[in-house]
Amino acid sequence: MRTDLARQITGALKLRDVMEFYGVKFNGRGFAKCPFHTEKTASLSIKNEHYKCFGCGAYGGIIDFVMELYGLSFQQALVKLDSDFSLGLIGRKPTYRERQQMAENRRIERAYNQIKADRHKEYLTLCKIHSVLFRRLCNGEEWLRETVEKLDDLLDDFSGEEARLWETAMT
Ligand SMILES: [Zn+2]
Repeated sequence: MRTDLARQITGALKLRDVMEFYGVKFNGRGFAKCPFHTEKTASLSIKNEHYKCFGCGAYGGIIDFVMELYGLSFQQALVKLDSDFSLGLIGRKPTYRERQQMAENRRIERAYNQIKADRHKEYLTLCKIHSVLFRRLCNGEEWLRETVEKLDDLLDDFSGEEARLWETAMT
């Protein structure tokens, strides 16, 4: 029963769509930066509906991906996929109106996830620059103080980004 449902769910979805929906971005050559470890170059790719990361060895299918990414059990991952992709395989079938609303929500969430991933990358870059300059400042390059402080403020601003991200995703 449990595996029947899993088969229905994985049969209804494509791994790449699922991964993109949850914020993973693939480059032109079909590689993505692995969401399970921090890396500079994309080393995760998909083959036969399974992802594999050549950096950390992460490997699996659609359900493994969701379990791993959200720390869910097998059953919870099925429920999440069923609901996020409006498959209607668990419980009652949603009405037409509900399906429309879910599709809309999905569109917004996808945009949001993308923006969030982009912003996160910018944030990490700024953090790196900041730590380099800060080290130089600590080593006596006093003239860098103003720049380091400006970067401090900029990094603080990022914590207030969440609300604005939603606004962007909605338009
Ligand atoms: Zn990895």
